[in-house]
Amino acid sequence: MDCPFCQIQQDKTTILNNGNHVRVILSNPRLMKGHLLITPKRHVEKLSELNQEEITELINKTIEFQEKILNTFAKGCDIRQNYRPFQKQNNLKVNHLHIHLQPRELEDELYKKCQITEGKIFTVLTEDEKREIFALFS
Ligand SMILES: [Zn+2]
Repeated sequence: MDCPFCQIQQDKTTILNNGNHVRVILSNPRLMKGHLLITPKRHVEKLSELNQEEITELINKTIEFQEKILNTFAKGCDIRQNYRPFQKQNNLKVNHLHIHLQPRELEDELYKKCQITEGKIFTVLTEDEKREIFALFS
């Protein structure tokens, strides 16, 4: 399977930081200026597949680069990791685990075009749902 994070294409990929187990790259395409991806060098698809050294480096790089974003040009920064095996890989969806760092500002383009309606989805937690989820996860 073609994996753009295993076979790095030099012309499309800008590596900002090359660690022992993890690299930091510019997301391409990106959602906003400074959208970064932190990705393990080994091909894994879920966080649970990482070993302890990879977890430590992944989290440390995430913290380090979030601080770089906050100290240089953005007031906020989202950290996201998606696991969606039901979606096929394409130029916007790569199966190889990666953490998104997304610089954010008040009412930025992502908010105005996508997240402005997110508030309508939030629902007050019911007692039944609380009991159901508690029973599953505790
Ligand atoms: Zn890969």
